[in-house]
Amino acid sequence: MPSSLMLSFLFFLLSLSACSLKTQTTEPEKISHINKENYMIPGINHGLIQSPINILSNEKHETKNHQITLHFQDEIKAVENLGHTVQLDFSKGSSISSDGINYEFKQMHFHTPSEHLIDGMTFPMEMHIVNYAPPATKNGIPHYLVIAVLFKMGNENEFISEFLTLIPKQSNNTVKLEKGRVKLHDLFHDDLSNEMKNYYHYRGSLTTPPYTETVNWFVLKHIIEASPEQIRAINDIEGDNARHIQTIYGRHID
Ligand SMILES: [Zn+2]
Repeated sequence: MPSSLMLSFLFFLLSLSACSLKTQTTEPEKISHINKENYMIPGINHGLIQSPINILSNEKHETKNHQITLHFQDEIKAVENLGHTVQLDFSKGSSISSDGINYEFKQMHFHTPSEHLIDGMTFPMEMHIVNYAPPATKNGIPHYLVIAVLFKMGNENEFISEFLTLIPKQSNNTVKLEKGRVKLHDLFHDDLSNEMKNYYHYRGSLTTPPYTETVNWFVLKHIIEASPEQIRAINDIEGDNARHIQTIYGRHID
């Protein structure tokens, strides 16, 4: 083989190995670009950053600071039986900002069993605190920041007992709550901003239609206790409403 041909063959080999290296180190930023119409899975109306996921606790390598700022008034105005979930609605005026986006506290609801798994383990219940940022432009998509709280069986939970008997028996009904009757503070017995210091964060989607892929998930590491009777009572109302886990496709947990 002439030396010039040999050299170009070597360059060819080098470029091949550079390509394979590139695909191995896919960054989450690049994954977000996959979320385009032409990359959607045929017949399924979503892309590749879906939720929930199985979180491998030893894969949390970096502790990226998400600069969370809370203005939290802890005012819950209503409890709803939506048939597929039990939901508590926040009064206006509480907000959380993270990475330059300001989200308004909207509602929190329950899944039985949990949607997220930690190291392959399902929990009997998961609560989602849903915070919403409206679209920046007319045709834009909203952004969400969802705080996920996992429950294990244990002692009766004070926060749940504050509203459990008030949940409407019939689905698609709402019961208004007096101010101060139900407080998120009674769930954590700590400031929410302190609870927000230990989490698994990743970028994913809503777990119900339309599966919008603009969700910053913060799954809290603190596992909360609730009694088996309380968890069963919520499951009796909403049924098994956990979406099954989705493929990670190279996303990072930080
Ligand atoms: Zn949910």
